[in-house]
Amino acid sequence: MITINEHFLKLQASYLFADIAKRVNTFQEQNPDNEVIRLGIGDVTRALPDACVQALHEAVDEMANDATFRGYGPEQGYDFLREAIAKHDFQSRGADIAADEIFVSDGAKCDTSNIQELFTTDIKVAIPDPVYPVYLDTNVMAGRTDIFTDGRYGGLVYLDATKENNFVPTLPTEQVDLIYLCFPNNPTGTTISKDDLAKWVAYAHKHKALILFDAAYEAFIRDESLPKSIYEIDGAKEVAIEFRSFSKNAGFTGTRCAFTVVPKECKAFDHTGKEQLIHPLWNRRHCTKFNGVSYPIQRAAAAVYSEAGQAQTKGLTDGYLKNAALIRQKMTKLGFDCVGGDNSPYIWIDGQGRDSWEFFDMLLNKAGVVCTPGAGFGKCGQGYIRLSAFNSYENVEKAMKRIGEALG
Ligand SMILES: *Cc1c(COP(=O)(O)O)cnc(C)c1O
Repeated sequence: MITINEHFLKLQASYLFADIAKRVNTFQEQNPDNEVIRLGIGDVTRALPDACVQALHEAVDEMANDATFRGYGPEQGYDFLREAIAKHDFQSRGADIAADEIFVSDGAKCDTSNIQELFTTDIKVAIPDPVYPVYLDTNVMAGRTDIFTDGRYGGLVYLDATKENNFVPTLPTEQVDLIYLCFPNNPTGTTISKDDLAKWVAYAHKHKALILFDAAYEAFIRDESLPKSIYEIDGAKEVAIEFRSFSKNAGFTGTRCAFTVVPKECKAFDHTGKEQLIHPLWNRRHCTKFNGVSYPIQRAAAAVYSEAGQAQTKGLTDGYLKNAALIRQKMTKLGFDCVGGDNSPYIWIDGQGRDSWEFFDMLLNKAGVVCTPGAGFGKCGQGYIRLSAFNSYENVEKAMKRIGEALG
């Protein structure tokens, strides 16, 4: 008899985006002349940078010629990309990361999902609330939680991000073993200071824990005092794995390229308490289960680090940040408490006592603007909405004008 992994049955069906689509469709049917502006989805809208497109074309031409054709590449990624990443993203900021500590992949979603299979199921996992749902669901699938009751899975430690802590979770008061952090944050758009991040690194050392640091939005950081990488913190290499992606900085959401950094000194422990290095384990997993990102895509990703690529990706993120600033300014002027939007494409907005969906319906029905209800990201998201800067400036201007007229 073939039996299933019953942990999958604990998963909560995610109706968030289906519910949003349903309400938007109903609104469109009732208001066919009213064009809806979408500031809900966490996907980029601008085309790939020229430098990447050129590199992609050239690499495709190489594949079309026997003399330059490439078959299977190294599973961990080509040296030209790993070296460019190590140099530009880490060494240039004083973080001593080597090329062979970079594992190129097809997405930070897959990597943040897959990493947890290196660890036992009886560890204590700490996950922020509100959160990118991938961290949560993959631990449910692996059997690290009990059933879902009253908005939460049993057996996990939730790290609340609320107004009281400025949406930066405080250290757990109990022992936890695996900690998920994401800064700049999705969905709240908040950032963490070096001092606060250093407290998490110190916690991990003290408690023999491991931090999984998702830095998918680092390219939006403009405040130079903020850490772009956890490895800017002393001692982080022993206790942290970092996830990066070309999705949000260079528009690779449909092109697919990302990477994970596993420093050679990063460690976990076996059941006797003996230290075990994570690098060889992740290398083994990656080589066994993954066959590398396609050569043309890696060439396109490497072009991000060319002079033109750097200028063009900065142009993209500058554009989204300009949208974010406008959203934050207008919503603040209307009297809403907002965080995020200055070093992040997301703005997290307090509904002034409204339920998340009530706030969603109000923006949709009165202004024709689609947001994401905060409750979809966890219990602490109730009462909030997320507005995203991923749209054209014209559309964001129009959306803010409409919200101003409807609510002002
Ligand atoms: C968009 C996003 C990613 C990137 O995922 P990819 O699979 O690389 O496209 C990772 N983490 C968070 C929190 C995100 O919002």
